[in-house]
Amino acid sequence: MVHFCEWVFESLPSRLQSLLFLLLPLFDLHNRLAWFYILGFLVIAACLYWFSPDNSKDRAWGKFFNDTFPPALYVSHSFRLDWQCYLINGLLKVALNLSVASIAMAIALSSRQIFESIFGVSPLRFESNLLLILIHTFFSIAIFDLGTYCAHYCLHKVPLLWEFHRVHHAAEGLTPITGFRDHPIDVAFKKTIKSLFLGIYLGGFNYLTKGQIDTVTVDGTLIILFLFDFTINFRHSHLWISYGWHLEHIFSSPILHQIHHSQKEIHLDKNLAEVFSFWDYLFGTLYVPTQREQLIVGIPGERDYENIWQLYFQPFTKAWKKLHHSAIASNL
Ligand SMILES: [Zn+2]
Ligand SMILES: [Zn+2]
Repeated sequence: MVHFCEWVFESLPSRLQSLLFLLLPLFDLHNRLAWFYILGFLVIAACLYWFSPDNSKDRAWGKFFNDTFPPALYVSHSFRLDWQCYLINGLLKVALNLSVASIAMAIALSSRQIFESIFGVSPLRFESNLLLILIHTFFSIAIFDLGTYCAHYCLHKVPLLWEFHRVHHAAEGLTPITGFRDHPIDVAFKKTIKSLFLGIYLGGFNYLTKGQIDTVTVDGTLIILFLFDFTINFRHSHLWISYGWHLEHIFSSPILHQIHHSQKEIHLDKNLAEVFSFWDYLFGTLYVPTQREQLIVGIPGERDYENIWQLYFQPFTKAWKKLHHSAIASNL
């Protein structure tokens, strides 16, 4: 029966497969809502709950589910907008069918040709070995993450771009679905910058090594990203998961991203990296908590969007007004 279902699924056109995966994300192995990531989320959350001294007196499965999935959060207006974004952005993704990997590969090919036309054919020759594979794996994800950091920094600091990124920050509660609440312009900008960083790095590395070196992957995903994805759903949650002061200067823990959503002034524009917090440390935007803090998420002094249409279209009108005002100011 399972094989029959797989056969039927694989016979479908690729866009229809993507559409089914959008509606049934548990079975899409490249989705952060895939069953093993959700299972990982539940196991880690259960361990945290069970071994927390705060719950030593009244441990119960009912209380665990209530604490992990607070009903008020999952029936909120903010959560409804998150889900609507998930579906609309998913449909756009199916329609456009563009991935960072495919754009980065095209950029890598062009940049390798540019390197060859400027510097000639590389005289170096490297034989593939474990050390080079590990170095290449590390730099692939580190440079990709640097691209994420730079894009995220611009989305916060450039007023025009902030209008689109504020869609993500307007969420008044964090659930794993909030991770999908992004404006398409925000997504397109981040994808472009990440693809540029990764593509130029891959082009340069392929030029030097003649494209001989592989990376360590799990089902096509770089291993570090694959492992990181087991904690990705906690980044948008209310569960306090910290790696400790020292490790949080290297890896971005879920709590660092939750702090990124916090309204406190001291937290604003902090913790912009996704995988490696050392980028934040290097550029002075790291905030590592020394103790547990109460976080209120959202944008200070502002409310969430009233409905999904406002969420998608208001950023364009606000950005247009900003452009118009700056054009008038420059003419004065
Ligand atoms: Zn942000
Ligand atoms: Zn977020």
